[in-house]
Amino acid sequence: MLEPPSPQPGWVAEIIAVGSEMLTPTRLDTNSLFLTEQLNSAGVEVAGKRVVGDHRSRLEDAIRHAMAGAPVVILTGGLGPTEDDLTRDAVCTALGIGQSLNTDVIAAIEARFARLGRTMSANNRRQAMVPDGAEIFENPHGTAPGLWIQRDGKVIVMLPGPPGELKPMVERSLMPRLRLLLPAMHLATRRFRVARMPESELDALIAPVYTHYANPATTVLAKVGDIEVHLRARSSTLDEAERLCQEVGAKIEELLGTRIYSSNGDPLETVVGHLLQSRGETLAVAESCTGGLLGGRITDTAGSSAWFRGGYIVYHEDLKRDLAGEFDGSPVSEAMALRLARAARERAQSTWAISITGYAGTGGEEPGTIWIGIAGPDGTAAQRFQFFGERARDRALATQTALDLLRFKLL
Ligand code: AMP
Ligand code: MG
Repeated sequence: MLEPPSPQPGWVAEIIAVGSEMLTPTRLDTNSLFLTEQLNSAGVEVAGKRVVGDHRSRLEDAIRHAMAGAPVVILTGGLGPTEDDLTRDAVCTALGIGQSLNTDVIAAIEARFARLGRTMSANNRRQAMVPDGAEIFENPHGTAPGLWIQRDGKVIVMLPGPPGELKPMVERSLMPRLRLLLPAMHLATRRFRVARMPESELDALIAPVYTHYANPATTVLAKVGDIEVHLRARSSTLDEAERLCQEVGAKIEELLGTRIYSSNGDPLETVVGHLLQSRGETLAVAESCTGGLLGGRITDTAGSSAWFRGGYIVYHEDLKRDLAGEFDGSPVSEAMALRLARAARERAQSTWAISITGYAGTGGEEPGTIWIGIAGPDGTAAQRFQFFGERARDRALATQTALDLLRFKLL
């Protein structure tokens, strides 16, 4: 048997997803996402991944390239019984090894067909070909076994493509096998979320802290009006991994303060819900240009009926004026935002109400101008926001801003 790779911290893997269908716009490689999650939790980073079509020489090139870059190479797909399933042949060529028919695998495939009341077809014998020196991962959910080859300090793994076959095999066979080679490794994570802060501004603030640390690794992920800061610390003990995360996490928390709305990854609507519920208070909404988006986000949260009374979608000016009461002002104005918030609070009999009225996108007199009002026990206030004049972005920003404004009032 071949020498195992020497255990070392900072292991990396390369993933190759095999299948021409994933080079079209209709199919996505999801196996690598699942694999990455599993590998990361064992302390293995993914150094790179690639999708390769069912093409023999391109596949061989990809295998050689991946092997040059990482001690662990994992291929998924292309282990089927048909001529375009080339993974095993390509691996054997790239490694310069042979393969032979394995009677145990034939027996397992025949038994599977017998259980399903079918007979094995001749081309299934291809799936019983096993590269020299390979170990076999059983596949209780399909015919192609997984294959594990250890050679020259490298591990090359082949897994079936169907996610329903791959996932249980990764959990039951691949990860336990890989852990035998890996040093004990524990992972601790933090997931801070911040609303309404430009990514560059946030990064300028916290980069001086996190760039001093390789462990935990810090990633800053920005979406519209929402930034996530992920910390991932590794150590041989969980206590130490937690301590490393805590050390950097505390510094980031100090710098960002109340701008952090969540330290566990909860979305803003959930956080606002917890705050309201802990105070025994309720919320209602009056939405114009967001057309129910805010109410939708709120009701995405399980249990929101405990604190969300409901609301009003007042899209047309007539409906706005119905809710707001007659007055001379513009439908997009401070006065309208104030009136809508007050009226929603009164009608819904809630502790708080949020109103949103504005021009989302390029239409209207002032593209991207949105007024947000908040009515509460201490009165009503409204603020004007100038967003980008892009409809989807403006609407998302409006709901995010409204929830965050309310959160600050509840702190
Ligand atoms: P194969 O093992 O290449 O015959 O793949 C069988 C089926 O598994 C394909 O038709 C896809 O539906 C699925 N599949 C293969 N590779 C992947 C992948 N990387 N991610 C998600 N599904 C996949
Ligand atoms: Mg395929």
